[in-house]
Amino acid sequence: MSSQIDHLLDETRQFPPSPEFVAHSIDDPALYQRAAADREAFWGDQSRELLTWHTPFTRTLDWSNPPFAKWFDDGELNVAYNCLDRHVEAGNGDRVALLWEGEPGDSRRITYAELTDEVKRTANVLAGLGIGQGDRVAIYLPMIPEAIVSMLAVARLGAIHSVVFGGFSADSLRSRIDDAGAKLVITADGGYRKGKVSALKPAVDQALSDRGDGEQQSVEHVLVVRRGENDVEWQPGRDIWWHDVVPVAPAEHTAASFPAENPLFILYTSGTTGKPKGILHTSGGYLTQAAYTHKYVFDLHPETDVFWCTADIGWITGHSYVAYGPLANGATQVLYEGTPDAPHPGRWWEIIEKYKVSIFYTAPTAIRSFMKVGRSVPQKFDLSSLRVLGSVGEPINPEAWMWYREVIGAGTTPIVDTWWQTETGAIMVSPLPGITATKPGSAQVPLPGISIDVVDETGEHVGNGNGGLLVVTEPWPSMLRGIWGDPERFVETYWEKFADQGYYFAGDGARLDDDGDLWLLGRVDDVMNVSGHRLSTAEIESALVAHEATAEAAVVGANDETTGQAVVAFVILKESFLADHTPEGLAAQLRSWVGEQIGPIARPRDVYIVGELPKTRSGKIMRRLLRDVAEGREVGDTTTLADTAVMSIISAQVK
Ligand code: ATP
Ligand code: MG
Repeated sequence: MSSQIDHLLDETRQFPPSPEFVAHSIDDPALYQRAAADREAFWGDQSRELLTWHTPFTRTLDWSNPPFAKWFDDGELNVAYNCLDRHVEAGNGDRVALLWEGEPGDSRRITYAELTDEVKRTANVLAGLGIGQGDRVAIYLPMIPEAIVSMLAVARLGAIHSVVFGGFSADSLRSRIDDAGAKLVITADGGYRKGKVSALKPAVDQALSDRGDGEQQSVEHVLVVRRGENDVEWQPGRDIWWHDVVPVAPAEHTAASFPAENPLFILYTSGTTGKPKGILHTSGGYLTQAAYTHKYVFDLHPETDVFWCTADIGWITGHSYVAYGPLANGATQVLYEGTPDAPHPGRWWEIIEKYKVSIFYTAPTAIRSFMKVGRSVPQKFDLSSLRVLGSVGEPINPEAWMWYREVIGAGTTPIVDTWWQTETGAIMVSPLPGITATKPGSAQVPLPGISIDVVDETGEHVGNGNGGLLVVTEPWPSMLRGIWGDPERFVETYWEKFADQGYYFAGDGARLDDDGDLWLLGRVDDVMNVSGHRLSTAEIESALVAHEATAEAAVVGANDETTGQAVVAFVILKESFLADHTPEGLAAQLRSWVGEQIGPIARPRDVYIVGELPKTRSGKIMRRLLRDVAEGREVGDTTTLADTAVMSIISAQVK
């Protein structure tokens, strides 16, 4: 990507925070100055300020053997103690930690004191099952309080969790259990999704069955939470009901301290571009940056705010901004079991109204699906408690950003578009809501303490006004420490491309605008080359979404005899436009619209009106599958798709 991205949307709107917001914000421009003056000292200060260390560290960063970093490595701490006990000891035991809402409408309110007790009991149970430092525990649960309790109980023992999203199949679960060599699986009979109980235990049974000759089974026990009340099969000796053992376990448990670099979890990436990678994170650095970003990016006031991140704990966002960041900071948060539209399309807004959520963090895919249905649904609810909105997971199109701000944020709330990855562990690029004048569609600036650049293929800085590859140029506390069991793949995937410079290669394209603000352009693998012009998927998709008829769009480059690659667009229309327009007419309109908005070179060769787009279970568009359709090929590996039927529907619609 040495040549620049040629055509970009000309976004000039800017929204500085209101004077009232600034007056109450904890965000302080001095953060940038302190970090710039001495980055390592800055992180050392953050870690001491935000965490409680059993043994204080004296070394901040050991980068003597890159890319294998050690942060705070002679210090010792207990991650669960930092998320629980110390808040109780500080007199905040009565503060609500979790405002849990089940999909059918049942709810639980759990204070820090109660959560601490529950985690201690569970830690005692796990220890009794032989779990100790370094052992792996697979967690395959719905979004119920026991999911958080399980993660923290594992962390408390210095063991390693591997959370597997509850929507994954038995096969995906099996490969993750085997890859990590898990000793214990924590699951539930089932959980609620879209108004029905969706069973989980059978997938565990299946994942653990059918071992071939000589194939070792690492799992010794399965701990099962009763949630769905569905019938389950039982293997005596192996399977244990949670309610039989946890409530009767002693609530005394002293948190031992573990080295800062003790592994905390393995988590597999979303699998948007290929086979998921088992990303390894450790304790002290990870927790430092999770707490730091959760505090400053969301302008957290733990005594008064109600935080809600909608991500499932099966994703990194659920690890850093449901489990670890909010609890390390002593925040009060909502935890919701179900889907956004069950039992009615206003379910999320109803929850915000009910719990007076003040900070809300979700993904562009959700925002676009609400846009598709229309603003009348959220407008039925009182959303006036909201004061900060966040976005993560994909580039947010400027039109979706504006809709989010106007319809959900009453035209006043700052929006933080946060760029990061499973590998980075925590947010890396984002506005600070009390400081930054935000721009719709731009993630804007690296956080204080983070060094990001946009470079060309040779590693040279591209300069403002140009596009290139996003790199991280200095180590950061919550950086991945490796790919589980595969150090070579770790070096190869992230560090080889810019080995000379020692940069981390993120795999995403980005542009710097004239102010030096960052715009994410999509995956490097997805950038198109049309008649020698480099075009970004994000840019053309944003132009399509800016058309009044469009709810969602995905763009790919398909082989083309004359232009090398041609732009092919897949578009979902807003419900209100479906009735009185023909697909052919709208497709033609959209082709010329993109031509007008960006330039003739970007005009799609084909626009397909479809009902769905292929997405990962975390809601990200999988463009490589659409490229297969656009090029008339057999559709590739769909195992990480949320709904595998979608591809045959799309293929049929395209023919
Ligand atoms: P895989 O690595 O297996 O293909 P994945 O990259 O989708 O899967 P994640 O780690 O969940 O797995 O996602 C990180 C990616 O999500 C980033 O590399 C980027 O492409 C995208 N992303 C996340 N946040 C943003 C954002 N705010 N703006 C633009 N893109 C984002
Ligand atoms: Mg990735």
